[in-house]
Amino acid sequence: MKQEIKNIAVIGSGTMGNGIAHVFAQCGYNVVLNDIKPEFVERGMKTIASNLDRQVKKGTLSDQQKKETLGRIKTSTNLENAAQSADFVVEAATEDETIKKDIFRTLDGATKPDVILASNTSSISITGIAAITKKPQNVIGMHFMNPVPVMKLVELIRGLATSNETFSTVKGLAEKLEKVPVEVNDYPGFVSNRVLLPMLNEAMYCVMEGVAGPEAIDTVMKLGMNHPMGPLQLADFIGLDVCLSIMNVLHEGLGDSKYRPCPLLKKMVASGNLGRKTGKGFYDYAVK
Ligand code: NAD
Repeated sequence: MKQEIKNIAVIGSGTMGNGIAHVFAQCGYNVVLNDIKPEFVERGMKTIASNLDRQVKKGTLSDQQKKETLGRIKTSTNLENAAQSADFVVEAATEDETIKKDIFRTLDGATKPDVILASNTSSISITGIAAITKKPQNVIGMHFMNPVPVMKLVELIRGLATSNETFSTVKGLAEKLEKVPVEVNDYPGFVSNRVLLPMLNEAMYCVMEGVAGPEAIDTVMKLGMNHPMGPLQLADFIGLDVCLSIMNVLHEGLGDSKYRPCPLLKKMVASGNLGRKTGKGFYDYAVK
């Protein structure tokens, strides 16, 4: 039997990391939120506080619960310190294989022997990440959806060596967070992004080829297919750099030209227009 999980380390405090820290702390876990610079963890904490404020305004959380949630989150810019007393680590750093493997190499040496190491990667091989460590049986994919406090789904990705014990512990953890875990095997993009991203990429081809403008494409998919968000609105929300990384993983991992990233997506990422987070993507979010 694994020990009870109480202490969580979340590595990366961006869009996903701060959401993951938020839900664990709200459910009573002690959390350390880590990033590479103090201003990044501060920005993550600000986002958590403003998202908790929204819950208080909606009446789904009391002011006292908000204070207690914030009180359970500590911050750190030192990976070893952040992870040393963790029972469970979720890595939610930038979608880059080298960065993630470096983090897992450090985590392997810095953590307790029976720690479970999870990655929130959207597309990078869990088997490959696990192979960096000396405990691949304790490594798993825990793929939350954005925004984490709102979305119910968590894909649980079994690497080739992930043990049944690790899987069932993490499944129980996801259920404690009131999420719905779905078991998936380790192939590029898992299920969610294998199905979703080619659709977003195709919508970008439609813009590039002048089939229609972003608003027209999004309207077709919202009103015609009953999607709550249009594909280009969703791509801006996910982040165009994240979309490009995932398309590259699908293209390389599956070796099929149908997954080639749209040249317009590449051009937008090269220009620094990454969607909502930079104020401009397929839509303009600049404050007027
Ligand atoms: P983001 O760019 O918003 O945040 C990434 C954070 O990681 C940044 O703050 C960065 O400073 C930090 N970071 C980089 N290197 C680090 C290191 N060595 N140690 C600690 N922190 C480091 O990205 P995001 O959208 O939050 O994505 C994070 C992960 O979650 C990625 O693997 C992504 O594929 C996955 N994901 C993203 C979404 C989404 O909709 N954005 C959804 C599901 C999963």
